Amino acid sequence: MFSKILIANRGEIALRVIRACREMGIKSVAVHSTADSDAMHVRLAHESVCIGPPPATDSYLSIPDIIAACEITGAEAVHPGYGFLSENARFVEALEDHGIVFIGPSSEHIRLMGDKITAKETMKNLGVPVVPGSDGGVPDLETARRIGREIGYPVIVKATAGGGGRGMKLARSENELEQAFRTARAEARAAFGNDEVYIEKYLGRPRHIEFQIFGDGRGAAVHLGERDCSLQRRHQKVFEECPSPAISPDLRAEMGAVCARAVADIGYAGAGTIEFLYEDGRFYFIEMNTRLQVEHPVTEEVFNVDLVREQIRVAAGEALSFTQEALVPLGHAIEVRINAEKLPNFTPSPGTIGTYHAPGGLGVRMDSAIYSGYRIPPYYDSLIGKLIVRAPDRPAALMRLSRALRELVVDGIDTTAPLHHALLEEEAVLSGDYDIHWLENMLREKFRAD
Ligand code: ADP
Repeated sequence: MFSKILIANRGEIALRVIRACREMGIKSVAVHSTADSDAMHVRLAHESVCIGPPPATDSYLSIPDIIAACEITGAEAVHPGYGFLSENARFVEALEDHGIVFIGPSSEHIRLMGDKITAKETMKNLGVPVVPGSDGGVPDLETARRIGREIGYPVIVKATAGGGGRGMKLARSENELEQAFRTARAEARAAFGNDEVYIEKYLGRPRHIEFQIFGDGRGAAVHLGERDCSLQRRHQKVFEECPSPAISPDLRAEMGAVCARAVADIGYAGAGTIEFLYEDGRFYFIEMNTRLQVEHPVTEEVFNVDLVREQIRVAAGEALSFTQEALVPLGHAIEVRINAEKLPNFTPSPGTIGTYHAPGGLGVRMDSAIYSGYRIPPYYDSLIGKLIVRAPDRPAALMRLSRALRELVVDGIDTTAPLHHALLEEEAVLSGDYDIHWLENMLREKFRAD
């Protein structure tokens, strides 16, 4: 086992990894930008290294500075968290060149799944159902038009290198295709430096259902059920639950097995998520994330596992600590994302937090790196905390979430907590009867958002 791990991240996920390290008796190294000198992850780690100025490109994304920090501190392995360098194959190779272990899959698997066209192709060949669309990149508008006619409108134009909902444009008819095609390409070029796009049939009322998988890197893999992340704004998740109110135990076992088999077949190592759209009883693969997800805690709560600990164990060459038979879901968990944003338009709301009080009590978990008096820097993601509840069943989990939200105090800045209070008043949320477009419609009606 490693004796020291460097965490190439910040915020709540850096804390999440530091906590797992402490519980495993492993020393942790925090890295931080000059904007984060007072951050909680810096305080809680055993050691810390300042790796650069505030912009992420000069600090949290700077591969040479992170490698130098490993060498200075003698860290043997790096946990990337999510975002930043977590799905960067070049980073994994650079670490390998320096004899440092990356806590995650191989660079080859990151590349395979990071290119959404290759990912779709690979999954299709492994027997996983995919969304109908162009088989590969769409080079020009003429080809786009031909594919649009073949699969029928509406269609969605998506960036091959996409992520975070960027470079994705809807065309309801052929009239809208040219605009969608050009904007998706321009956005993809600006965000990812790669303007290749592909086309998919646009599904009208699907749910977003994703399966958590775990591979040992030697041809064995398990699944840990699904998460329902259909409540989204601008393709970004805001409320996630496990299990999905729409999936039966039989369907879970069947699709979970398909997912586990697919990653076992490619010899995948570590945690991963296979994302699907689910409509009219059918699954359609959209992408695979080769890292820990923001919403991983709901799976941990329901399956009673520590996914970060498991990632570290597998990266150190140990066998999986659970078998498929031992992974039995129990109860229901919900996570809501607390962002420093002002409703109704979700404009970023950085600033200094006055009083912070985290909810507690039975079945309540608050994953956050904020504290009273903390100054939220304006340079990074607006996620400041995740409130997770677990209860014996879904109605009890909703009641628990409601009471925990009432206990939460974050003064001095605007947060998305009022949205979650409002969601818990909605019949569709209470009954679990929602799709990926429901939230946007609700926001337009109730909050008059743009
Ligand atoms: P990203 O990598 O940017 O997150 P995804 O491919 O995972 O992109 O898609 C993100 C979200 O966009 C999905 O959860 C869903 O809400 C929406 N979406 C993606 N593909 C489709 C599709 N074919 N039809 C309808 N909605 C889609």
